Amino acid sequence: MTTDLPSTLTFDPQTGLIPVVTQDARTGAVLMQAWADRAAVQRTLDTREATYYSRSRREQWIKGQTSGHTQRVVSVQADCDGDSLLYRVEQTGPACHTGAYSCYHQPLLAGDDPGSGLDGTLERVYATIAERLATLPENSYVARLHAGGLDRVLKKISEEAGEVLLAAKNGDRAELATEAADLLFHLLFALAEVGVGPAEVAAVLQAREGKTGLKGPKEVG
Ligand code: AMP
Ligand code: ZN
Ligand code: ZN
Ligand code: ZN
Repeated sequence: MTTDLPSTLTFDPQTGLIPVVTQDARTGAVLMQAWADRAAVQRTLDTREATYYSRSRREQWIKGQTSGHTQRVVSVQADCDGDSLLYRVEQTGPACHTGAYSCYHQPLLAGDDPGSGLDGTLERVYATIAERLATLPENSYVARLHAGGLDRVLKKISEEAGEVLLAAKNGDRAELATEAADLLFHLLFALAEVGVGPAEVAAVLQAREGKTGLKGPKEVG
């Protein structure tokens, strides 16, 4: 079955290409921007494999064909005037050929916006932990944590919390960031062991978002 391209799509008359922005459907992160010709868009719709046109190689480019880092297309949207496309994808491995998760990792203007920082990182680390728990590879720290049992990890979480406390108290910014990362990692591990997804935690946080005067957990008792 093929879905015909709408006639409202505008391909550049010189090059026959349309820009495609590709977004991680799981995290919302922008992964990359590339180009597609009619055949590439058509193939994407027909197969749900993200397909582009390589301007340097001058040929159709099925993302992941050589790297294995494929993109399963969840949806395709055209923008308001039909001269740009959005692929929302389930990304396997890194999207960027440098090995980075996203192509957009070269800051020109440091972002303090809420979209940067942890954006999607927790979900990705959680997904990695869940994958390791499913496969238990040798040499995997996650596999070792798993073998050690949940009780030991819970103890580790309180140790890391203590280290966060100490770093904060000492005003050691680098140490605080490191210890916070340790704490988050082991917390994500515990969540993954019990099967609570980051989305469930996010839902609790989001329900409280923008509200003021909430009672803290201790106060609630
Ligand atoms: P891949 O499609 O991942 O197998 O990669 C094939 C080739 O496409 C790579 O060798 C790169 O030249 C190029 N490429 C892959 N991913 C990207 C990307 N996100 N941005 C630009 N070029 C890419
Ligand atoms: Zn447009
Ligand atoms: Zn890249
Ligand atoms: Zn630590």
